Amino acid sequence: MPDGLPSRTLRTLRDADALLAAGLIAPADLPGLRAVETRYAVALTPTVAALITTPDDPIGRQFIPHADELLTAADELDDPTADAPFTPVKGVVHRYPDRALLKPLLACPVYCRFCFRREVVGPDGGLLSEAELDAAVAWFARTPAVREVILTGGDPLMLSPRRLAGLLGRLAAIPHIDTLRIHSRVPVADPERITAALADALTLDKPLYLCVHANHAREFTDAARRGLRRLHGAGIVLLGQSVLLAGVNDDETALEGLFRAMLAARVKPYYLHQLDLAPGTARFRVPAERGRALLHALRGRVTGLAWPTYVEETPGGGGKVPIGPGIPVA
Ligand SMILES: *Cc1c(COP(=O)(O)O)cnc(C)c1O
Ligand code: SF4
Repeated sequence: MPDGLPSRTLRTLRDADALLAAGLIAPADLPGLRAVETRYAVALTPTVAALITTPDDPIGRQFIPHADELLTAADELDDPTADAPFTPVKGVVHRYPDRALLKPLLACPVYCRFCFRREVVGPDGGLLSEAELDAAVAWFARTPAVREVILTGGDPLMLSPRRLAGLLGRLAAIPHIDTLRIHSRVPVADPERITAALADALTLDKPLYLCVHANHAREFTDAARRGLRRLHGAGIVLLGQSVLLAGVNDDETALEGLFRAMLAARVKPYYLHQLDLAPGTARFRVPAERGRALLHALRGRVTGLAWPTYVEETPGGGGKVPIGPGIPVA
């Protein structure tokens, strides 16, 4: 692929043909990628496409589909975090006593090639109906052990500010709900969505934590930083979550750069995730030993504010366990 890709686009790229027209893939890649896109959703926002300098760079790898996605390794699982057995009502996942997930929709601004929910996320999937949302809110209202609602998906910030405000308001009004949390890729992948109306919709009487998913320092563009500043100004606490990914952030410089870029954007690194065993994601795997060595190398040299908890999801629904340096491995 030549240097200086014509990767500036005005609309979201949603298939291999659009990627070819944007110069992000080669003609020879087309047949393989058409097969991938029949199985897994594709989307690159103009923001993300403009960050790609070569298709295999840390941004391109995260979003440009790859023929290897149709190769499933023996240890990979369709539902690696085992959400299904922990679903009391549609859209809710209750695995830990004091907190539960609510997935109001399964659409995202971009589709990450390593996503652990890749079998279910997509542009036309999973929007809960009003009746289903009512049932989910009613479940929270009658489950007093749950103190925190975590909106995830999909990406909750794909909802209109009006719908989000309505949903958050109903959840925040439940007396035993102390905190709300949203997990989102929007601030970095589609920062234009962080409008004043959205910041208003997220302004609640109860604390709201926004956990921003980003994996490389370059995702913190000027527009992303402006959007995050706006959210911070609205009283939202900003946390960061990242996935350790081969060819994206699996070296000391990249990882340090990522955490420093988060802090500079007012985002406190919260979790560094070991990649889940989702199908067709082998090209992103980094051994946990390597992850521990990387974090160990940063310790002491980089401010403690930059330090996330390195966690791994136990396959089959055992939940997250810390695997960082200094923690003995069973
Ligand atoms: C990750 C996760 C949470 C949140 O866990 P924290 O450790 O509080 O961030 C809650 N429920 C489910 C099902 C999860 O997978
Ligand atoms: S934004 Fe999150 S849910 Fe959506 S594809 Fe990426 S990792 Fe998956």
